[in-house]
This record gives sequence, structure tokens and C-alpha cells, in this order.
Amino acid sequence: MLYAQVMDAGISTDARIAKLITAALDGALTDAQAEQLAQVDRDLLKLAWLAAARRIAEQHQRIGELQAKLAGPPGIDPVTPSAQRPIYTKPPARKRKAKPGARKGHPGKRRPTPKRIDEHEAHRLDRCPGCGGALQRCTRKRTRTIEDILEDLRTVVTEHTVHRDYCPNCKKHVEPVVPDALPNAKIGHRAVALSSWLHYGLGVSISQVRELLGVPFQTHLSAGGLVAAWQRLAEVLEPWYVQIGDEARASAHLHADETGWRMNGRTWWLWCFANRLSCYYLLDPSRGSPALEKFFAEAFDGVLITDFWSAYNAFATERQCCLVHLLRELEKADEYNASAEWQAFAKKLRRLLRDGIRLRKRPDFSPRRYASRIERIDRRLVALAEASYADADATRLAKRLRKHTDALFTFLDYPDVPFDNNLAERMIRPAVILRKISQSNRSEKGAAVQAVLMSVYRTLKLRGHDPLATIDSALRTTLTAGQLPPLPVESVADG
Ligand SMILES: [Zn+2]
Repeated sequence: MLYAQVMDAGISTDARIAKLITAALDGALTDAQAEQLAQVDRDLLKLAWLAAARRIAEQHQRIGELQAKLAGPPGIDPVTPSAQRPIYTKPPARKRKAKPGARKGHPGKRRPTPKRIDEHEAHRLDRCPGCGGALQRCTRKRTRTIEDILEDLRTVVTEHTVHRDYCPNCKKHVEPVVPDALPNAKIGHRAVALSSWLHYGLGVSISQVRELLGVPFQTHLSAGGLVAAWQRLAEVLEPWYVQIGDEARASAHLHADETGWRMNGRTWWLWCFANRLSCYYLLDPSRGSPALEKFFAEAFDGVLITDFWSAYNAFATERQCCLVHLLRELEKADEYNASAEWQAFAKKLRRLLRDGIRLRKRPDFSPRRYASRIERIDRRLVALAEASYADADATRLAKRLRKHTDALFTFLDYPDVPFDNNLAERMIRPAVILRKISQSNRSEKGAAVQAVLMSVYRTLKLRGHDPLATIDSALRTTLTAGQLPPLPVESVADG
């Protein structure tokens, strides 16, 4: 548990991201703020900058139109009522690009605009996808419009003409798959990936996601529309989520942490299981064994790194408890406990922990080379834990040391295992931001979507993949090959 400090981090980071995006959209981003935005995510800075540029371009266009309107067409009195003016003198109907009038949170009242089509694409099968046989050409066809977002944030509207032909062998009509959007979806993969990555990957609120990308969309990019698109994305990516969990369970060491969550007014828990290459989130009503049983099924075979929460005890044969937590606990007691016995106990324990950490940091460290030193550290720990104390804090801490004797210096037996749980805390922090901006989840379905997409985005990032390109290509493959491709492994950086 990391309650207080993460809650604080959540509050400040969440408000900070929102403020930075607003500044960028208003064209008021300072040098320092741009730097901060880049630190959150480099791509987010680029995106905010593009959105601001687009906004400025729209304003220019609006000013231009206004000036043209004021000047009026040559020879025509600008105050002549529109209906009395000959049709050919009127400017072409302007495409409305501005944000619709309804205020944030209110349903849009915009009339459906006539579709702007940027591109046309035809799709026709050469052979039957079922039997591979030749097709009889038919005249049947349908059109489908898909709107997507380009890398420079321009939107492109493509009208797809899908031809249906007849397979005499299968005795049915067949048509090709349009790989640019999920069946019946109106927005393309990039828009779905970009919006969900902003929200679940970076913690940008839905209204700001819409501000960043929603403005030029003709199709409805309502909050509800986005949520529905994300739900379908999560359904498609579910096998990756399962695989992330499998890989986490099969790894040599794994961090675990949990934090409070709200679900439909009830308290739930967000669990996070992570290591260098995988990050798996689980939302569950339980803060104890039932949730851990769901994840682990049986005892974890590697080293489990956690805080001192006892629910973890039953699920790992080897454990490392977070020493940073322990040190923090000492500091906390130091603030009010000045008794000589406590001070002596705390001093001894601190020195012991420091000696263990220092030993591990030696460049030539190996468990075998320093076996006798490690043994001495273990003996000091036992002595400190077994002694009896009159001071309440010393008694309490000694009891904890007794309970976790085997879980304090595991990192000296396994040189890959860290002595703190920082990784899990770092992974759970963005989720805490999301809890605040999305008011947690109103439904279990929403919670499932959140767990899947957060896990996928975190894991892709850990493995060094561009989430947008990866999701876009995975969705295309799913549609053309009928199956989600395997979850990408760690990308090997060049150089
Ligand atoms: Zn066929």
C-alpha cells in the first residue's frame, strides 16, 4: 500500500497534465511547460502542439470568412437579406469546423452535416475467402464511411465501396473485409488507438481527449461514442491481457501492489502485478486472498516483491518485502517516539538494512562470494527480531521482523531482485490518476475495459513499442487474418 504519497502524486500529476494541455491549446505554453509536457510523454507534447496549430488555422479561416462576409461580393449590398440575393453571389456553404455549441457535458445538438469525402476506396474479392474458388461478379455493393486521424492530426474521411459477389460453390454472397476500422465502426483504428492511449495510457480526461482530437470529426466523437469504441478495442485485445498475466506469472520475479478504487459507490481494489517487461492490472472487490487467488491460481514460483501486507504471504515461496517501506516506517515513529530504547532499535535496524544494501551494491557482489557476510546479516536480523522490548514501537517492529525474517534480504540471494517495490508503485500511479479523472468506474464492464487497456499500454511501453502503430497494425491483422497477432516481445533498440 502506498496510499498517501501516491494520492498526492495523483492529484498533482493529474491537475498538471490537464493544465499543460489547456495551456498548449490556448497557445500559451511556456518553455518550461513544454518541457514538462515532454516529460509526461514526448508524443503528447507533439500532439498538443498540433492541436494548437489546428486551432489557430481554424481561427484564421473563420476570420477570413468573416472578412469576406463583411466585404460582401462585389456589387452587392452586404445588408441585402440573404434570401433576396441571387444564389450565385452567395459564398459556398462553409464547413462547420468549430466546436458544436453545446457546453461540455451537454449532448450535442448539431444537425448531421453533409459528409465531406476526402478519399474513395473500392474493395472487391478476387476469390472466395471460404473455398478459394472463382466468383460470379454481381452488381451489389454498399458504401461505408470511415473517418480517421492522420499523424499530423488532420482527419481523413474515406468512402469505402464494398462489392458483394457470388460464390457458386458456397452458394452465397461474399464481400471483402475493410481493414481500416472494426466492423460497423465509424472511426478508424488510429483514432481509437490515439484516444484510448491518451486516456488509459497517459491519464488525459475524456473531455480533453475530445478537445485534442474531437474538433474536426464529422462523425460523433461523443464521450459515449469514445467509451463504446474503447470497449470494443478492449474486447479485441483481451487475449493480450490474458497473455500479459500468463507471462507475469511465469517470470522469475514480480512486483505486486494494490490501492483503493471506487466501483459504483463501493470500495474495490486495483491490483498491479509488474516487472521489467509486463504490467498486469486487476480490478477486484477483494483486497485479500480472493483477488490474489484469481491472479495466481497457485503459488508463484519466483520471488514476489511487495510491501508488508500479509495477504501476499500465502502466494509466494520466496518474497522480498520493500525495504523503503520499512525505512519510512522508522521515520514515522521517529517523529513522535524519542525513547532511548526505540532510538537504539531504529538505529540498529537502519544500520542493518544499509549494510545489506551496501553489500549488494558492491561491483563484485555475488551471493556465493559474500555468503559468510550474508549469513552474518541474517544473524543480526534474527537477534534484533528475537530480543524483547519495553517500547511499543520497537515491539511492533520486532514482531514484523520476526514475521518477515525470510523476506527482508532475499535480494542478497537473488541479484536480479530489487530491495524496494518502486516499480509497482510507479506502475500504479497512472492508474490512480485515472481513478480521479474518470471517477473510477460506474460498471464492472468499464472496469474490465480499463484493466485490459491499461495493462496493454503499460506493457507495450515497457517493451519499447509505439502503442499507436502497434495497435493500428494489430487491429488490421485481426480483421484481415481473422486473429489477433501475438503480443509483441521486447523490441531490441538499435545501437
Ligand atoms: Zn466459396
